[in-house]
Amino acid sequence: MDISHLLNSSVSNMEPSLVRELLHYSQQPNIISLAGGLPDDALMPAYPDVNQLLDSRQYGASDGEAVLQQHIAQILAGRGLDRQKAVLVTNGSQQGLDIVSRSVLDNSATILTEQPTYLAACQVFRLQGANIQGVTSDEFGMSVKDFEEKLEEYKPKAVYMIPNFQNPSGHCYSLERRKEIASLLEKKNVLLIEDDPYGELCYEEIKLPPISSMLKTSSWVYLGSFSKVLWPGLRVGYMACDEELMPYFEKVKQATDLHTNRLAQMMVSHFLGSGQYLLHIAKLKAVYKKKRDAMADALLKYLGNQISYRIPAGGMFFWVRLPEGVSSMLVMERALQEQVLVLPGKPFFSSDHMLDDAYLRLNFTRVNEEDLDRAIYTLSLVVKGLSVD
Ligand code: PMP
Repeated sequence: MDISHLLNSSVSNMEPSLVRELLHYSQQPNIISLAGGLPDDALMPAYPDVNQLLDSRQYGASDGEAVLQQHIAQILAGRGLDRQKAVLVTNGSQQGLDIVSRSVLDNSATILTEQPTYLAACQVFRLQGANIQGVTSDEFGMSVKDFEEKLEEYKPKAVYMIPNFQNPSGHCYSLERRKEIASLLEKKNVLLIEDDPYGELCYEEIKLPPISSMLKTSSWVYLGSFSKVLWPGLRVGYMACDEELMPYFEKVKQATDLHTNRLAQMMVSHFLGSGQYLLHIAKLKAVYKKKRDAMADALLKYLGNQISYRIPAGGMFFWVRLPEGVSSMLVMERALQEQVLVLPGKPFFSSDHMLDDAYLRLNFTRVNEEDLDRAIYTLSLVVKGLSVD
């Protein structure tokens, strides 16, 4: 049956997310997966007894459960974001991306992103028909020069950034870079969409303010999530923003799904209120730091000077540049034949003219150290095999 006439142009042209397509392989036994951006199952707290959590089974408020909003406001205040009057609880930060896109982007809008960037954010922006322009990025985030030029050239409506331990590159904006970006945003009055699901997973002694907290006259949206530190399957995230924007976002949330699942919100709220949260984060950081170091050791031991990468100061990923001429797509296919799942870097490049097939994104938080070592050893055989093909 031909259904092409039924679909609108955004959906009929939509590409699937490679990450989600590959996720089903990671559930197969015998596969070691370095592909997802997933927490270690062993570190996830047990669910609380759900019957104790909610005294009403009715519909809830669109902006979220008040008790959870208060916990989130406290977390945000700790990050220097205490100006927001309200917090909107979302169905993961992915829904925050959807809400802000629907609210501000349309067919004629340009949005700037880092290059490479989180591919599912681009999926959302494309669904709105927006024109995505990538800005070249280095270890400290967006190049200020290229950002300034693209602001001039495209007159974008918004800019999407992941300043802390970015997905996929692991980069973290320095304080200077944050200040430079903030000052340009103020000058041009462009909306900042700051996505920060990894900020708490920091393995070095650094504490950097969100760029949103540095803005005085231009608009910002800050997205957070409990997916990387608690339970991704519960789908609880949040957004904070300028007071003026919030009523519009709330209406879009109403129209989208009425409200986020109340039980899921109360489960998160219960954990935040239990006094265990900070201890839990400290434990995640200690375990993930060890795993990060184990991956760095394995990369050095098995692939040595064949590849290049930086050791990320936080987050969940190594972003590895392959030897000249080795395709990341081919590495992914061959490694899968050897029961190791890795993610090719190509889909993370949002602008066609910047497509780069030379990178892999490797997750170090999900698997144990023994499997990490085995996976990198296997990967090294695949890469060496392709280097001499
Ligand atoms: N933003 C970034 C940068 C991410 O890496 C992810 C998850 N991979 C999300 C948003 C979405 O997270 P969630 O919807 O689970 O909160």
